[in-house]
Amino acid sequence: MYIKTIVLSVFVLLTALPCAAQENRSYALTGVTIFQGESGDQGEMTILVSDGIIKDIFKDGTKPIRAAIPKIELTGYYVIPGLIDTHVHMGMKGLTKSPEPSRKEFKRWIYSGVTSVRDMGGDARALFRENLRISENQQPGPEIFFCATVGSSDQLAKDIRLKRATEGMELQDAGYIIEVKPGMDIAKNISMAVESKVSGIKFYAGVKSDMIGAITKEAHDKGLKSWAHFTVFPDRPIKVVEAGVDVVSHVWGAFWQDPDLDPSLKIPFTHTDFANAKSAIIPTDLAVLNTDSPELRSLFKEMSDRKVIWDLTYSATTDPQLQQVYRNYVLAGRDEGVIFSTGTDYFNDISEPFPSLFHEIERLVSDGILLPREALLAATLNGAKAIGIEKTHGTIEIGKTANLVVLKEDPTVNIGNLRKIEFTMKNGYLYSRSDYTRD
Ligand SMILES: [Zn+2]
Repeated sequence: MYIKTIVLSVFVLLTALPCAAQENRSYALTGVTIFQGESGDQGEMTILVSDGIIKDIFKDGTKPIRAAIPKIELTGYYVIPGLIDTHVHMGMKGLTKSPEPSRKEFKRWIYSGVTSVRDMGGDARALFRENLRISENQQPGPEIFFCATVGSSDQLAKDIRLKRATEGMELQDAGYIIEVKPGMDIAKNISMAVESKVSGIKFYAGVKSDMIGAITKEAHDKGLKSWAHFTVFPDRPIKVVEAGVDVVSHVWGAFWQDPDLDPSLKIPFTHTDFANAKSAIIPTDLAVLNTDSPELRSLFKEMSDRKVIWDLTYSATTDPQLQQVYRNYVLAGRDEGVIFSTGTDYFNDISEPFPSLFHEIERLVSDGILLPREALLAATLNGAKAIGIEKTHGTIEIGKTANLVVLKEDPTVNIGNLRKIEFTMKNGYLYSRSDYTRD
């Protein structure tokens, strides 16, 4: 305890004198244990950060540290890569019209160690603006990666959320909305999406798998990721996977691989409000579902072979019967070696100290699906892969962006320790948990 008291006072000193250190974004974190994914962790290490990049990692005392670099002594502390939520919707918080509730969430995220999020369909104009504010340090928050929504004419016409996301402009002028229709100019649509600064495209509903394949190919050629609902009606999930997408979202999509269900009967797929959405995506009789069918096994095998990531949004339902079914599906996926990422798809009340991502991670562990170490990998490296930023994010390695979370206790022995945050570092900027306020 003596050591930790000293450390804390050093840190308080640093945050009290933020200017030079914060501007240079250069630090030496010493004495720390580094999370190394599936392989064993390294203790008593020094992480050298310069200009927001991890410049060096070495055993304490084996290399000199320049006197000008502020040292943060972290003996007994544990460091993990910045956390990633792979499924958020800032539109749910009304970002376009009033950004304040979103900005509170941005702040809670960063002070909770969440350094990147993937927004799965919203107003790219507002997301771009908020991202800029965050990157210019006008607003504490994570880096936001966002998408262009791809859907049938029918879906786009009916989805009220897309109307909100395109307010003030015609649908065809919004580069972040792609309407799939006969004779569409795929190349033009994808180049408009690129201009909207999206990182990927998201197939929502009403797009046949041959079109998913053709649009995905063009997106990949132009450097965008291809993201999809696990089931993009009318086809079954395996068709979506075979079409070459990189990530599929939600557990419920797996239902529609069941031979007793026919997703093509759900066309036209409507998503005009959330009451309709539930009946559209979840079969009325859950008892018909077989969570261990050969069809399901081949689906998971295909995903595993192709390294398609399953963005689970596992904790998004509160229905106990559905939770049980979800658990069985995810366990079957795990057994086939499917890669998971931790998306949430919901916001918990801002009065809670930590965001919904913590529920997602903790539930995956407490439901016996993942070990704490695997859940941390899902929430860091796998999230980075889902977004397509794994070369620069997702692990603590030389040359990567300094996005880190320093914890007082080891989360691999108890995932609850993830809540014991000392500070978050994003691009080399420090956010001390003790500075977090809700407003
Ligand atoms: Zn969603």
